[in-house]
Amino acid sequence: MSTTQRIPAEQQAREATDRLSAAGVHGVALTWVDVAGITRVKAVPTDRLASAARTGVGMSPVFDVYLVDDSATTSPHIGGPDGDLRLRPDLARLTPLAAQPGWAWAPVDRFEQSGEPYAACQRHFARRTVERAAERHGLELKAGFETEWVVTRADAAAPGTSADTPAHATPHVTPHTALHPAPHAPLRYPSTGPAYGMARLVELSDYVRDVLDALAAQDVEVLQIHPEYAQGQFEVSVAPTGPVGAADLAVLVRETVRAVSLRHGYTASFAPVVEVGGVGNGRHLHLSLWRDGRNLCEGGESDEGGEGPNGMTADCEAFLAGVLRELPALLAVGAPAPASYLRLQPSQWAGAYQCWGLENREAALRFVAASPGRPGAANAEVKCCDPAANPYLVTGAVIAAGLAGLEAGLRLPPPVAGDPAHAGTQPRLPTSLPEALGHFERSKTLREALGEPLFGAIAAVRRAESELFDGATPHEIVAATRGRY
Ligand code: GLU
Ligand code: MG
Repeated sequence: MSTTQRIPAEQQAREATDRLSAAGVHGVALTWVDVAGITRVKAVPTDRLASAARTGVGMSPVFDVYLVDDSATTSPHIGGPDGDLRLRPDLARLTPLAAQPGWAWAPVDRFEQSGEPYAACQRHFARRTVERAAERHGLELKAGFETEWVVTRADAAAPGTSADTPAHATPHVTPHTALHPAPHAPLRYPSTGPAYGMARLVELSDYVRDVLDALAAQDVEVLQIHPEYAQGQFEVSVAPTGPVGAADLAVLVRETVRAVSLRHGYTASFAPVVEVGGVGNGRHLHLSLWRDGRNLCEGGESDEGGEGPNGMTADCEAFLAGVLRELPALLAVGAPAPASYLRLQPSQWAGAYQCWGLENREAALRFVAASPGRPGAANAEVKCCDPAANPYLVTGAVIAAGLAGLEAGLRLPPPVAGDPAHAGTQPRLPTSLPEALGHFERSKTLREALGEPLFGAIAAVRRAESELFDGATPHEIVAATRGRY
């Protein structure tokens, strides 16, 4: 990094420090999300922020091969106690945290000590694919993640400490206390209201208001918030933004919901499944493609556009066809845990089939067409992704798959209407993590886009988590992971 680049960052950090100090902020949480989907953190006192922005904060690269239980595996490039990386906060994203008074937050990019971007940095990867879309295809992407969570009373069994834990964690990993047996107690929900029920909103009125207030205080633009299908489940969706920013927001929204929940004596679970047999938590990704200020998902009347199905342009069709083709491999990124496959069941609105459909909530790829009342709002939703996934990896991998479709000029198959589980004609997506991993390992598109260090780390972590839970019952998997994300 050159001196000319360093000075503005340092000035920016000093100004930010003054602003934060005046606002009573004592510490800044610097986060990144690992391959297993866990948000890891190093925090600095506010007056160290400038130094963190300049030289970074140290952290071991081994976390890239950490599993959901805090044990570690190894990959061809990563593993063991050696080495150090520098975490450098993105000050443009610096946000005082409304539900954690005295704290601010910023996501980091990770660098080698030499100053080179770290090859397995997930945020760099997402940014690289966004840049590739712009440079090669003149495309700008807008994205937004939905956040679903289940709220329980914090005085119920501490999540992740149930007796239903696999007794046979493999020698591949070091079993961690998080998965050690502890007395099991049933979950207790602070509300009993029905799915999408106003009763649930009334019961948790102050809580939901505080979620809204905290997000608004952090300048997060909320589109809607509602009680979801499962017991104690809610969802919030936020306005679309650039893909890297959307992944940052996914982190910020989750941690904000977590903090507000704790202040109300609740625990928020962001696991793919919280109760076995119930509807799980998804974290769907919405994407739209733009060129020269026009949404390519709704070509409309322009000369260039509209020749694809449902008014989308040919470029949009090819991009979505690329995503659709790659879904079995993408699952190893977007549905990354053994628990993900307990969620990804037919007829649960989770998107268990490799098909697309117009406003079809059972299709893994749901197209939301333009409508007269919402110009510019057409987009595609990747539904099969869940909150165990790293949002930066999901963003980058989905875009990489779309760009491959664009470069190959792919066409979409006919859309599917109705529940594909009933039609029996559509391919089911992988039903287990090992099956998804097999597709991932054969995916040239994802391998090339991710680069070997990141590709190898993802494969290693998926394999090790499969082994960790090999033979475990659904109850054991859910009990061991519901409090981890
Ligand atoms: N909870 C569902 C899931 O697992 C999604 C429900 C919805 O369509 O919002 O993805
Ligand atoms: Mg939902």
